[in-house]
Amino acid sequence: MSAPTPALFIGHGSPENAIRDNPFTQSLQALGKRITRPKAALVISAHWLTRGITFTASPHPEQVFDFSGFPQALHQVHYRPYTSPALIQRLQQMNLPALADPAQGFDHGVWTVLKHLWPDADVPLVQLSLDITRDRLGHLALGARLQALRAEGYMIIASGNIVHNLRELDWSQPSGGQDWAKRYDLVIKQALESKDNTLLLQPRAEQNQDSRLSVPTEDHYWPLLYVAGTRMPTDQLEWVYEGYEYGGISLRSFMLH
Ligand code: ZN
Repeated sequence: MSAPTPALFIGHGSPENAIRDNPFTQSLQALGKRITRPKAALVISAHWLTRGITFTASPHPEQVFDFSGFPQALHQVHYRPYTSPALIQRLQQMNLPALADPAQGFDHGVWTVLKHLWPDADVPLVQLSLDITRDRLGHLALGARLQALRAEGYMIIASGNIVHNLRELDWSQPSGGQDWAKRYDLVIKQALESKDNTLLLQPRAEQNQDSRLSVPTEDHYWPLLYVAGTRMPTDQLEWVYEGYEYGGISLRSFMLH
C-alpha cells in the first residue's frame, strides 16, 4: 500500500503574496517541486464561510477576487484549475451533510498560495466551505472524516493563519511579529508537536490575552483544525515555513506526511 498523501496547512497572510517573491513564497515553490503531485486536492480556506457545509461543484470554478485596495497587478493574476469530478463523487459518497454549489469559485486564500505551489494550475481542486455553525471540535471532527481521502491519493490543503489580527498590524514590521503573536504562535507550534488537541480546541473562556489577541475571530484559525483532524499516527510533522507579517500575522505553515 502506498503512503498516504500529505495534508498541508498554509498560513497565507496578505493576498499580495501571490505576486511577491519572498522567503514565504519561495518555501511554497520549493515544496511544490519536492512533493509528489496528488491526483486532486480538497482545499479549505478562511475566506469561504457558510451556514452548513458546501463544496464547489462547477466544472471550472471561477477565480474569486475577494479583496479590495490592492495593486492592479494582483487583479491580473490568472490561476484557474479545473475541478475533480472524481473527488466530488467521493465527497457525495461520504454522506457528509454537505451541499454542492455550482456557482462558487476558488477564493484568494486558495489561489494566492497554490499559484506558488503548483504554478501551472494542473492539480484539480474541490473547495469545502467553513461551516460557521460548528465549534472548534466540530471542525476537527470533520477533518477526521476527511482523513480517509489521504489514503486514496487526495491531498488536503487548508489555508488560514494561526495568528491573524488585522486591527493590530504594525506596518513598520513587514516581516516581524509582535511579542504576543510570537508567544501564541509558539504555543500552537508546541501543541502540534506534542499532538495536544485539547490546547488546539481550548474554548474562548479559558484563553489568555495572547490567544484572544492572536485569534480575534475564528475564521483564519479553523482551517488548521482540518489538517490536525486528518493526522495519522504514522505522520511526520514538518514545518514548511515559520515567520510573521506586519506584526499581527503568523505565516507558520506545516505539512503532515
Ligand atoms: Zn486571509
